Amino acid sequence: MYAVQALSFPGLPIWKVLMKDQFGREITYLRLSVTDRCNLRCRYCMPEEGVCKLTHEDMLTEDEMIMAVETAASLGINKLRITGGEPLIKKNILSICERACAVPGITETAITTNGVLLPELAKPLRKAGIQRINFSLDTLDAEKYHRITRRGELKDALDGFYAALDAGFDKIKINAVLIGGFNDMEARQLAELTMQYPIDVRFIELMPMYDSGDFGEEAFISCDSVLEQLPEAVPQEADGGVAKLYRLPGALGNVGLISPVSSHFCGWCNRIRLTADGRIKPCLHSDDEFRIKGMNKEEMTETMKQAIYGKPQWHGEMSYTERTHTHRDMNQIGG
Ligand code: SAM
Ligand code: SF4
Repeated sequence: MYAVQALSFPGLPIWKVLMKDQFGREITYLRLSVTDRCNLRCRYCMPEEGVCKLTHEDMLTEDEMIMAVETAASLGINKLRITGGEPLIKKNILSICERACAVPGITETAITTNGVLLPELAKPLRKAGIQRINFSLDTLDAEKYHRITRRGELKDALDGFYAALDAGFDKIKINAVLIGGFNDMEARQLAELTMQYPIDVRFIELMPMYDSGDFGEEAFISCDSVLEQLPEAVPQEADGGVAKLYRLPGALGNVGLISPVSSHFCGWCNRIRLTADGRIKPCLHSDDEFRIKGMNKEEMTETMKQAIYGKPQWHGEMSYTERTHTHRDMNQIGG
């Protein structure tokens, strides 16, 4: 279903196609996964041995990625997030970002990264047109960081964080997956980063995707439990994203709670995902996939329209202990 909307810019009427799904949601946001590989092995995300390596022929080429972004933009998508796996290990990441950010109609650009390679790449990414960074950091304890990532060094991540601060992005958000008995007791310390730096810190409920590592049932806790450690946090107006927002008095940024498990946000989900092997996933937790690898622009447009229109209404009940309905792990989808 299409709607053509007039956007009012001073003195210049601009017509824009908006594409709605079968439930009337406007789909305006694409998450593009540029690789399923990673330099870390977070226990809740991917197996220790890494991913079964797809051949070059299986993966989208850079030109196909750009064609997909152009197609998405022609269907009304204006927000783009580059993700993975770890997007910064992709050799041509700067070229992908530069070309994707320049696609007409794409007005908001972001990247999600573990940050380890940001010391070299933060400024070039900014220059390539990336406006915002989501930076994954679950703990400020070096031993725990090594344990949760199975190989990472906290110092490298923090160096990346400082490089991002230095590079002048419009917005930096730290994302911490909340794991009961592992980092829930660090919620206050993580949230207090917003007192020191002009950033948001968001807590995300652990989703039952990869085996969720060696965690037991106690690992799955509701995001709202963070508020017990932050009694002075003041609710803030939503910013159009999926997080419930709070602010510590005197802070420079917000604390966000993202609850995909305890309180889903499917009713206003506006996103689709494109995997590194060229499948459109209209819903993170569904196995519905639409292959666009190898297609020309016309075929890609038709397939993307079908994928958007057919987006499922919601992801169904998600329990803390049962794996969701997708066979892919997060690194193979793009978080
Ligand atoms: N490598 C990049 C990173 O870590 O930011 C981008 C890809 S990663 C798959 C994107 C996000 O997904 C990360 O913030 C990660 O913490 C989150 N994630 C992965 N597995 C998850 C799970 N089982 N539950 C909740 N979040 C998860
Ligand atoms: Fe890699 Fe990101 Fe998954 Fe961690 S969460 S293993 S950094 S893709």
